[in-house]
Amino acid sequence: MRILITGGAGFLGSHLCETLIGQGHDILCMDNLITGRTENIASLMGHDRFSFNKYDVCNYLHVDGPLDAVMHFASPASPQDYLELPIATLKVGALGTHKALGLAMAKGARFLLASTSEVYGDPLVNPQPESYWGNVNPISPRGVYDEAKRFGEAITMAYHRYHGLDTRIVRIFNTYGPKMRTKDGRVISNFIVQALRKEPLTVYGDGSQTRSFCYVDDLVRGIVSLLMAPNENPSALEDKAPNQQDQPSSDLNIHSPFNIGNPREVTVLEIANMVLAHTGTTNPIKHCPLPVDDPKVRHPNIQRAKTWLKWEPHITLEEGLTKTIKYFQEIL
Ligand code: UDP
Repeated sequence: MRILITGGAGFLGSHLCETLIGQGHDILCMDNLITGRTENIASLMGHDRFSFNKYDVCNYLHVDGPLDAVMHFASPASPQDYLELPIATLKVGALGTHKALGLAMAKGARFLLASTSEVYGDPLVNPQPESYWGNVNPISPRGVYDEAKRFGEAITMAYHRYHGLDTRIVRIFNTYGPKMRTKDGRVISNFIVQALRKEPLTVYGDGSQTRSFCYVDDLVRGIVSLLMAPNENPSALEDKAPNQQDQPSSDLNIHSPFNIGNPREVTVLEIANMVLAHTGTTNPIKHCPLPVDDPKVRHPNIQRAKTWLKWEPHITLEEGLTKTIKYFQEIL
């Protein structure tokens, strides 16, 4: 396949580029490099099936030749980044998604949107099934990311319903692994960098809030399965939306969102202690103010991905932390 990946020089985008090149596809990587980095794609530069275009996906898009898929991964994704870049975040979720959809239409390509567990906001249902509509504060500082992605999902479904575009939506839960920036700002990279630098680990609030962390290789495997999955899947007829706000089963098809994440839920304090144990350090923990509207819990229900994609994560938090610590030891 010939695939355009927007945000292809970012953390997840660059892993996708590598994996899909490895599977024999042609990859066009587009990134405006506001949070992406060319270091992430350095190993692919010069490859005859890879090209890089420094470009802002919010502008009119033109790509020479055919395309089989457009994967829209461009967006600041760390809370630290989207709080610093609120307008760019809203624009790439809205204007950028619109342009990427238009390009997919023009090329007759399949479209895959990188959405997020942030569409569930500060969830009142735990774990979160895809049928949960979420609890988002649109005017909070975090609202810029949450609402941009919610709009992205809405316009993706509108292109599917009104234009018949073949679309996919993945709701990505917290992900970690090599290629995160040392200054990314997300919790696992912060804790590992702090531990290795012998600095205190900055736990926001009392650390009782929970997250569920997926190692990047597992996540990429899930996203590629979703991209490649056929439109029909009879075995998924048993896929029932659990808990509240059940959708009619006719709405549950390959085009409606898929949670991809690791369902092991841990507190932030637990993850701090795991990082200390895995780095063999005894740095103190420093409590800092909790960011506004920081979700108290997050835990994916992955039944849909298990049923439709036969996907589930395999890499334990212990294994993933070991690999990620090794990466940061090398780059520091
Ligand atoms: N967090 C923390 N210390 C840090 C960075 C983050 O305690 O140095 C907390 C943050 O408040 C949140 C959780 O870790 O409760 C996950 O934060 P992250 O920024 O990784 O992603 P989020 O899930 O909030 O999008």
